[in-house]
Amino acid sequence: MSPNDAQKLLADVEAFCQEIRPVEELCYVEHRFNDQVVPLAKKHDILGMIVPPELGGRGADTVTYAKALARIGREGTGVRTFFSGHTSIGEYPILTWGSDTLKRKYLPAACRGEKVLAFGLTEPEAGSNPLEMQSTYERRGDKFVLNGVKYLISNGGIADAIVTFAYPTSGPKRVSAFVIDTKAPGFNSETLLAKMGMPTSNTAMYEMSNLEIPAENLLGDEGNGFRIAMGTLVSGRISVAAGCLGVIEDCLTESINYAKERQQHGKPIAKHQLVQEHIAMIEQDRVASEAMVHRAALAKDALAADPANTDKAVQADMAAAQAKLFVANAAWDAADRAVQIMGGRGWSTLYRPGRHLQDVRVCRIYEGTDEILRLKIAAHVLGGREWEAFK
Ligand SMILES: Cc1cc2nc3c(=O)[nH]c(=O)nc-3n(C[C@H](O)[C@H](O)[C@H](O)COP(=O)(O)OP(=O)(O)OC[C@H]3O[C@@H](n4cnc5c(N)ncnc54)[C@H](O)[C@@H]3O)c2cc1C
Repeated sequence: MSPNDAQKLLADVEAFCQEIRPVEELCYVEHRFNDQVVPLAKKHDILGMIVPPELGGRGADTVTYAKALARIGREGTGVRTFFSGHTSIGEYPILTWGSDTLKRKYLPAACRGEKVLAFGLTEPEAGSNPLEMQSTYERRGDKFVLNGVKYLISNGGIADAIVTFAYPTSGPKRVSAFVIDTKAPGFNSETLLAKMGMPTSNTAMYEMSNLEIPAENLLGDEGNGFRIAMGTLVSGRISVAAGCLGVIEDCLTESINYAKERQQHGKPIAKHQLVQEHIAMIEQDRVASEAMVHRAALAKDALAADPANTDKAVQADMAAAQAKLFVANAAWDAADRAVQIMGGRGWSTLYRPGRHLQDVRVCRIYEGTDEILRLKIAAHVLGGREWEAFK
């Protein structure tokens, strides 16, 4: 992407963020889904940031896309999670592993906002270990028939098409990936409302009961689904890390403004040393996180330029896991400190830090829990797959 195109994209993202802010604040306080994210993202042409222009998108490299997601992350983890679901783990696998037919069928429409996308890997009995999934598929003539339940899926209740994973009912037990249409008979979703945060974003479970899809909707080669899922998580984890960087930036801004304004014991609380400690630590969270996100984005772009290079694949995978683990925890720390700086007001969803604290907690769970990522990093530095603790 040229510097001019990158600048234009980031300006469009900025305009989107300014427009979405009051809507998101109102929806959050009223505890309801923000149905303006898609229309406003469409208006500012940011629904296909990573998709090449010939397929209707903006053609952003990962470094630019991460900057865009960091900016969006300031508006809340719920807003950013929409983009992760639609773009980082929705458009990305279709773009990377899809046939030309599949790309043309879904990506231009996704960029235009006519098709919202999602990624369905998790099931009620298969979270950290997706290989324990129970969803199945069967080939019948020129169709695949899918059965199963997917759980905790971002955008799952608003998506038009979902990248979905299942085992065959017969033959070698290897996961395959598909793109399913949610308007097809046999698809039913239920939005999950009992959440600790992100009330403005959609999280759903869905059931596939003899759901038929055309054979062309197989994503990548049959039996290659697990590789596709893991490859997609590299993209997804960078999006989470970038969004969390935005959360930290917003917490820092809010903390500085409030601490300079609020007076106690005869002076702005920003002049109290213990309040300054919180501000210093949020700034530390910010600079370290920015470096981790940038490192991961560079590694991913290096792999994109040389996709067959296995060393670069490992580096990108590790850098994304390290960034996601570090920045999600740094954002949790930053939001907690920002709440503390604001005292009683901080512990309220009327203010941004309280909302960030509630929302950002999930970033230590989805796209690989803290524990799973620590195990992954440890196995890598110990010497590779033979050191995986969960073998
Ligand atoms: C809001 C939200 C949105 C989500 N969006 C999506 C989405 O879009 N698509 C999707 O596919 N999924 C999504 N998920 C699911 C998410 O990825 C899973 O919740 C996550 O992978 C953890 O799985 P689990 O909840 O089943 O927990 P479990 O796997 O049951 O883990 C429970 C605990 O055990 C720990 N644990 C498990 N195995 C080990 C081990 N070997 N060693 C040490 N500790 C271990 C875990 O770290 C965790 O602390 C979403 C979840 C949430 C909450």
